[in-house]
Amino acid sequence: MNKKAIKILLNTIKTSQNESVRDWFYWETYMQYISEDDFEYAKKHSVMYDQEEISHDEICRRIKRAVAGIEKQKVVDAFVYSLGTRQLEYRSFLSSYCIAESLEEHSFTPSPEPNEGICAICGLHTYEFEDPIEFNTINYFKYKDGCCFDSLIQILFDLEQFPKLPVVKPNENDYKILNELKGIIETSEPNDRISQLKKKISKIIKSNDEERLGLLEILGVIGILHDDAHFGYADQYVTYPEREHRPIRNDDVGYPARWWQGKFGIDDEKWKYWFEDN
Ligand SMILES: [Zn+2]
Repeated sequence: MNKKAIKILLNTIKTSQNESVRDWFYWETYMQYISEDDFEYAKKHSVMYDQEEISHDEICRRIKRAVAGIEKQKVVDAFVYSLGTRQLEYRSFLSSYCIAESLEEHSFTPSPEPNEGICAICGLHTYEFEDPIEFNTINYFKYKDGCCFDSLIQILFDLEQFPKLPVVKPNENDYKILNELKGIIETSEPNDRISQLKKKISKIIKSNDEERLGLLEILGVIGILHDDAHFGYADQYVTYPEREHRPIRNDDVGYPARWWQGKFGIDDEKWKYWFEDN
């Protein structure tokens, strides 16, 4: 991807965060910090986008259309490639693909009162799609942290972005890191949770804390890190009410990695499905 375009995106959002601490993520806010020429340049290189009006049902339809055009092996390659190269924008395609594959196209289905504004299947809130949707903050987090996504708006963006990035192939070093990652998970202490695992993997993968969290959350979504009651999306779509929180304050780990402990080890079948069956 075009380096200058990426820099424009990162600078714009960073400036917005610094200048407008509380509302930096709104389109109206961050667009104050970019010139028209820079925005056009970033758009031309598929790094920034205009807002778009998309209904809940159209979001589902477009996700299914996008995922139908993507080969599993290509998103696996992208994920493994991201490990050694630290090209973080390649990382989340794997989990986004897994969620999209399991998703069934559905119409907006209100949750029981008082949450009727939330879809009982996917968890999208009406306020997320009743106004035009912006995608630039999603792309910012892809480039900055390689975040794991689970909202359907993020999934849609990620999968429609995938064919626009150059195809990549992992090398020996990337696979070496993947195997070390497996070894660390397998030899975890029974009571370890994601915070301990993050520390342990920092020795094998050049990364900051946010990147490590995103990486482990991706392994949760694709079915590798879970407990015996909360599973990822590889076998079936996890609906909004099924994505339970742990009964603690401030659990900032995504579903289902937040439920994992060392004693549950690694899901060998899913590891094989993603990384060995090809
Ligand atoms: Zn829904």
